[in-house]
Amino acid sequence: MGQDGARKRAHHPFRERPTNRSGIKPLGVRQHFRHIKAMSKLPRLSALPSRLSALPSALPVQAHDGTERSRQRDADAPWRAWYKTAAWERKRQEVFARDLYQCQRAECGRIIVAPHERVCDHRRPHRGDPALFWDDGNLQTLCKACHDGAKQAEERRAAR
Ligand SMILES: [Zn+2]
Repeated sequence: MGQDGARKRAHHPFRERPTNRSGIKPLGVRQHFRHIKAMSKLPRLSALPSRLSALPSALPVQAHDGTERSRQRDADAPWRAWYKTAAWERKRQEVFARDLYQCQRAECGRIIVAPHERVCDHRRPHRGDPALFWDDGNLQTLCKACHDGAKQAEERRAAR
């Protein structure tokens, strides 16, 4: 080592703090890591959903998709906005948990593993009635296949 080591130290890039053109000294390495450490103490995104669900039910979680058609649909059926609330998201998760993630159609009964395959179904169509819409007793877990099948059957009955 000896001389060689001393020369290396003298040329260490972090020893000197060059100022940039604006005259501001960039953060030193130690300050930089202190900064990162402080940033990592900020609330994490994963903590946000629980806070969102504490908001009043009338607040939409998602923005509307903004198309004229969807705006018109929402105006015709204001209850569509209920599906976009944090309260509804909480409600459906409660229903799934209560039903042990099992499709409630007796002929099916499968455990629905994939979240996007779970449907929180209204046994009696709510048709804009908030009491029916929010009633736990009127809600059940269905797999997507059963839900879509039941809906199609309903529509066929209506068409007859
Ligand atoms: Zn099913």
